[in-house]
Amino acid sequence: MSDPAPFEPACPFPIENYPQVLLAHGGGGRLMHQLIQRMIVPAFKNPWLEQQHDASIFELGGQRLAFTTDSYVVRPMFFPGGDLGSLAVHGTVNDLAMAGARPLYLSAGLIIEEGVAMESLWRILASMQRAATAAGVQIITGDTKVVDRGKGDGIFINTAGIGVVEQTVSIAPASIKPGDAVLVSGDLGRHGMAIMAVREGLEFESSIESDSAPLAGPVRALLDAGVEVHCLRDITRGGLTSVLNELAEASGFPIHVEEARMPVREDVRVACEILGFDPLQVACEGRMVGFVPEPEVERALKIWSGIEVTAGAVRIGEVGQGGAPRVILKSTIGAQRILDMGSGEQLPRIC
Ligand code: MG
Repeated sequence: MSDPAPFEPACPFPIENYPQVLLAHGGGGRLMHQLIQRMIVPAFKNPWLEQQHDASIFELGGQRLAFTTDSYVVRPMFFPGGDLGSLAVHGTVNDLAMAGARPLYLSAGLIIEEGVAMESLWRILASMQRAATAAGVQIITGDTKVVDRGKGDGIFINTAGIGVVEQTVSIAPASIKPGDAVLVSGDLGRHGMAIMAVREGLEFESSIESDSAPLAGPVRALLDAGVEVHCLRDITRGGLTSVLNELAEASGFPIHVEEARMPVREDVRVACEILGFDPLQVACEGRMVGFVPEPEVERALKIWSGIEVTAGAVRIGEVGQGGAPRVILKSTIGAQRILDMGSGEQLPRIC
């Protein structure tokens, strides 16, 4: 008989370095990664968490299900191309899709600060419902809490989601293999720069709109066509750089990418230069990376190019064989450098 592992009372995180939580611990960069890997995962240690996936896959009644949750605290609540409500649906739908699941049901937990305009709350709820309908999911349970004026910040939303995994293959970091091509589904950095442009009061010639969108459709299109997909991950906080670093570490293989192939819109590039950001570290909310074996690249890109949200999909690199599990960027002038995760302090409360 094996007893459950005893609860370990000693905190495994080096608290002396950070006696208090910083905003950067939620920024999607190195500090958040350390917090999760050294404190949160060990606290709840189990085989499902160790999948290190956007959603956990488990079996119930002979069916494989995917389960995920995410909280949304973006400021401002309304921004070009989206709002807190649609984001809270798209983010959770996308985490289910990244596990190859068909998203089915969502929960909605609302934490509302006293004083929020009833009209704003209604706009957020209506937007959630529109996004859910468009993504083919239903919000079937929820919770509402109100906190004192000044003790919250408008509205926070948590959504959890359940989906069903219908195919037998495993789409997960552990399925990444040397030689796999790395694809991105469209232009990078737009969500983060749409938010930052509003916060900084910047006016560009054309307004930068968030790319916030559901990705379950283009994932389903690949699977329905029988494309062999090894891994998928949506590009959110920390941008492409964080996603690739997480997947290099989780798979144990180096990832080689080329700067010249990175799809970044000109207005986003300019906004990044003005505000001092690297577009590869800026969040998207409707983009993903896909790992497919070489013979599947052409077919995968052809399928994605025919769907609006993935029309800008391109190949940006491949998975290497030996060496440390790092991300290596070949610059436009041919030099190679390691693409490290940022600390995460630059872009707080982006989603
Ligand atoms: Mg994700």
